[in-house]
Amino acid sequence: AFVSRVLVADSVPESFLQRLSSLGFSVDYRPGVSREALVEMLDGYEVLVFRSRLRVNRELIDSATSLRVLARYGVGLDNVDVDYAVSRGIAVVNAPCSSAVSVAELTLGLLLMLFRNLYQHVDSVKKGYWSKGAFVGRELHGKTLGVVGFGRIGRLVARYAASLNMRVLVADVRDVSREASEVGAEQVGLEELLSSSHAVTLHVPLTPKTHRMISWREFSIMREGAFLVNTSRGEVVDSEALLANLDRLGGVALDVLEEEPPRSERLLRIIAHPKVIVTPHIGAETLEAQERIGEELAVAIREAVER
Ligand code: NAD
Repeated sequence: AFVSRVLVADSVPESFLQRLSSLGFSVDYRPGVSREALVEMLDGYEVLVFRSRLRVNRELIDSATSLRVLARYGVGLDNVDVDYAVSRGIAVVNAPCSSAVSVAELTLGLLLMLFRNLYQHVDSVKKGYWSKGAFVGRELHGKTLGVVGFGRIGRLVARYAASLNMRVLVADVRDVSREASEVGAEQVGLEELLSSSHAVTLHVPLTPKTHRMISWREFSIMREGAFLVNTSRGEVVDSEALLANLDRLGGVALDVLEEEPPRSERLLRIIAHPKVIVTPHIGAETLEAQERIGEELAVAIREAVER
């Protein structure tokens, strides 16, 4: 029985909807639908497409008896109870390759912003103050970058950084020493990476092991004045320890927070801190990545339905 009904619960490019239709799916597009409404209407759909907004837990999964495929328009599956879905025979698919370049380029941009105090200068000039001489920058050239997580994104970041003549250290739970050396990087332990790097950038998935993996001890090992970039998941960094260590660090750039949008007092204090720049989870927000996600995901959905 083919003709599958697809409910798309978050905003996606028009081209993705067309792609699904041309693959023979019947598509209902309800971007931003509330969780309550979704639970009410999900029965009868075989495929649910969503992004990071919804928590796809047991309750949601159980509200659709016909559900066969959960499709994340993007990469991270940390908002999905994957084990439960799989135990119910529901396939979980995503588009893990599509946004790596966009996230890696954003990471490079954030590194440059931190090293050259770009945010401070742009903000000062807009406010009418000519800040030349007020915030002297540093070059990336010759500095050591620590890349935590040498997967799709970390590998690109390492390659870009090496091409800018940075010394690149890599930490990963897998042995990636050969691939690392191929891009001019070196695999070391996390402690050595933290104590040697002028800047540390995080590219691990959120798992029980990486939850708050950068916490009090890790901050105490980092060099005084080191920079931290996080484009992975907010929960990878212990925000309490981060706030307490901001004075020791040179600067911090975050594209992800443990609460998005942020409301907690602690996150608001981190955001307001002059050494911190925050972007609103825009790692994959480029035209190219959004298009590519649609291509990759449509194929993955079709394969999962035909299985
Ligand atoms: P990936 O799975 O390709 O790579 C992750 C790497 O981390 C792997 O090499 C893995 O072995 C390693 N790893 C896992 N646990 C580790 C640990 N405890 N210590 C050290 N290394 C560990 O993932 P990816 O596609 O490169 O994505 C990386 C992160 O970026 C994910 O958290 C993802 O959710 C996030 N992401 C963010 C955005 C954004 O918009 N900011 C977009 C896409 C992905």
